[in-house]
Amino acid sequence: MPRYFNDELLRRLRNDIGWPALLKQLDWPHKQRQRQLAFLCPRCGEYLSAVNPATNLGRCFYCETNFNPIDFTIAVQGCDFITAVRYLKPLLPQRKINAPST
Ligand SMILES: [Zn+2]
Repeated sequence: MPRYFNDELLRRLRNDIGWPALLKQLDWPHKQRQRQLAFLCPRCGEYLSAVNPATNLGRCFYCETNFNPIDFTIAVQGCDFITAVRYLKPLLPQRKINAPST
């Protein structure tokens, strides 16, 4: 498989993109349930899902699918991998800089 993107970028897309920002950007149905973020599963249409902050994976417990932000974008947009990566890149948080004190 040709390597269009470097591993570091892909790793950051999987790990560093927050699900709240992702779901907002995709304008995809989701809700905060107690302390868990649940989203409508793009594969089965159920809402039995949660995001695991430790792994940054969204999981649908109904169809037992795990989504990282790239998988999720592909499923929601019906796009290919490269398009998903291009779409997600601007969502990456900026490298840590000193926060201005207010
Ligand atoms: Zn599902």
